[in-house]
Formats: sequence, structure tokens, C-alpha cells
Amino acid sequence: MSAANPKTAAGPLEATLCKACGHLFLLRGPVCPRCWSSNLATRPLSGHGRVATFTVYRQQYDPGHVPPYVIALIALNEGPRMISNIVGCAPESVRVGMPVRARFERRGERVLALFEPDVSNTASQGEPR
Ligand SMILES: [Zn+2]
Repeated sequence: MSAANPKTAAGPLEATLCKACGHLFLLRGPVCPRCWSSNLATRPLSGHGRVATFTVYRQQYDPGHVPPYVIALIALNEGPRMISNIVGCAPESVRVGMPVRARFERRGERVLALFEPDVSNTASQGEPR
């Protein structure tokens, strides 16, 4: 398993682009949620972003999720936001504004986009003011 694997870095993350108004969004529907145009296209996403907010789960709600673990709102560099787990670091080291990148893990038939600290982007690390 290599973090530098291009397949891992690029991954299957993609968004929907409205060709009428330029809005980029994650959940594909029949029309753009901003202007209702049906002129839509698919755009790959870099998988890079920042932690917008997060919480640490310390209670076990599901046998497959052993606490403590982090649920975060990720602000992707391209604009859309998504909820996922922060992995690959201690929960207490997660910070708002922390650069993260997607790491894809197969769970049965599904490929999940989890996020880990983006060590290639430490120069601007810190909380936005
Ligand atoms: Zn639109």
C-alpha cells in the first residue's frame, strides 16, 4: 500500500458541473440545484481539501466503527463539501483548516473516499482566520 500511488491519489471522486451556470456540486440529480438547468457534465476532483469542521466519536454505534474516530466536513479545493472520516492520524491531532487528501478504500462493492492528513501541503497548514 503506497500513499504515492497515482490511482489512490486521483481516485474515483468526481462532481457534477452545471454547464449553464458553472455550479459544481456532488449529488447528481436531473437538474442543477442552483439554476435548474439539465445541461450537466461530470468533472473529476483532485481529492484535496481542508477540514471545515469535525467531531470525534467516542461512543460505539456500529460494530464496524470502533471509536474513537473522526467524522469531518471536508471543503474540497474545487468548492463542494462532503462528509467523511479522517484517518491515518490520531483523532486529537485533527484541526479545522488542516489540509487533507482522499484515500480510497474498498468495502465490499463500495469504494469509500476517506481523508488523511495531506503531508504534501504543510506549508499553509493552520486555521483560517
Ligand atoms: Zn446551474
